[in-house]
Amino acid sequence: MAPCSQLNVIIVGAGLGGLTLGILLDQAGIPFQILEKHPGELIPLGSSISLNQTIQPLMEQLGLMPELEAISKPISSMTFLKEHNMSKIGALDLSTDSVRYGYHNRIMDRPSLYRLLLSRIPRENIITGKHVCDIEESKDGILVRCSDGSSFKSSILIGADGAYSCVRRCLYRELRMKDLLPKADMAPLAFDHHCLVGITNPIDPIYFPDLTKSTCEMLVVIGKDKPYSWWLIPLSDNRVAWRVTYNLPTTQIRQEQHIRSSDWGPAQVEEMLEACRDFACPYQSTLADLIDHTPRERISKVLLEEKFFTTWYHGRTVLIGDACHKVVPHAGVRHKQCWMPSVSPMSSMSSHLFRHPLSKPHLNLTTKSESPMGRRPYKEAVIWDDSVEVTNGASPWFGACF
Ligand SMILES: Cc1cc2nc3c(=O)[nH]c(=O)nc-3n(C[C@H](O)[C@H](O)[C@H](O)COP(=O)(O)OP(=O)(O)OC[C@H]3O[C@@H](n4cnc5c(N)ncnc54)[C@H](O)[C@@H]3O)c2cc1C
Repeated sequence: MAPCSQLNVIIVGAGLGGLTLGILLDQAGIPFQILEKHPGELIPLGSSISLNQTIQPLMEQLGLMPELEAISKPISSMTFLKEHNMSKIGALDLSTDSVRYGYHNRIMDRPSLYRLLLSRIPRENIITGKHVCDIEESKDGILVRCSDGSSFKSSILIGADGAYSCVRRCLYRELRMKDLLPKADMAPLAFDHHCLVGITNPIDPIYFPDLTKSTCEMLVVIGKDKPYSWWLIPLSDNRVAWRVTYNLPTTQIRQEQHIRSSDWGPAQVEEMLEACRDFACPYQSTLADLIDHTPRERISKVLLEEKFFTTWYHGRTVLIGDACHKVVPHAGVRHKQCWMPSVSPMSSMSSHLFRHPLSKPHLNLTTKSESPMGRRPYKEAVIWDDSVEVTNGASPWFGACF
């Protein structure tokens, strides 16, 4: 798409947040480059992921909804069961969500979602093997340095580089020196549970009848006398996503055992796998039945950190996604936090650019509501001008850059 001004944007990180902002920038005709630390071909990783109602208007307005529907299932219920006899503790009926909110909460495997977003970005806009290690801002622009000695200049820098964001570290170093960093932002990320996740190969619905349903009926088993819960999530193509969460016992552990680990990969899974193999599941099965149908490279163990950083932009730098709002991945909330902030700087850049006589908006992101009850969540996700209200203050930020 032809650039419409001298503005150029560097996004650090080709995760879901970075790719989504890339699609927005591409559709708006704003030049951008994504720098990703992983070398070579980008390999989609991860287990299941859900997108809640507030973020789906963005997908719809980007024209991604048909593909999103094809790779996902609507979540129609969440039922909580007791471990010892599988009796019902309670259930959430989500089947009327699309009437109430305009959209269903949808669940899919992360690799499919990742591939979908990646397919909408011109490949020349992503440079892999670029591990960003430092940034330096001047009044004319921002210099981004990578560990291989290369550097890039841009007018705006977006830190979409995840929970242990290097962009955030560099930005906060500057703010700290200027005594501008709030105390809360200096505290480390905290966590209080581990999580083991996987997705099976296709399995016969005889062993897992819920797979035959067109919607996802999620089952959550609550452990008896153990700090575990385990989740069974039927996906499309007869696959089951499963997740075991282990709640750490005290807040003391949250603080003292602060170890960096939000990398989703197959390392260090064996111990937790052994601990949970025999956990009882519905349909007279145990978790081992699902684990044994899951290729090892599709099992990850992660610590689920939580922290909302209050400082998410300064000067020419903006943080989006886990780099500023790290939340646990339940109810599709994380991706709202990941993507909504990309809308805000995007909105500010676009409204600035589209005042230029030669530019015209390539994106026509409008407000609409399928149902009156859907209006509120929909409004929350309104993309263009209103989004500035969602993440308050991005507009003055952008004006100050120029
Ligand atoms: C491989 C992977 C698998 C995941 N699997 C799941 C899952 O199954 N279920 C779930 O709910 N969530 C999963 N997540 C987390 C989820 O995708 C994110 O929490 C959420 O989408 C927010 O995305 P983000 O783009 O802000 O951050 P991330 O998805 O964490 O993306 C950050 C990106 O930045 C890159 N990066 C980091 N540091 C640098 C640097 N210094 N220079 C250049 N690039 C850098 C990383 O390699 C990564 O590609 C996964 C994340 C990753 C990275």
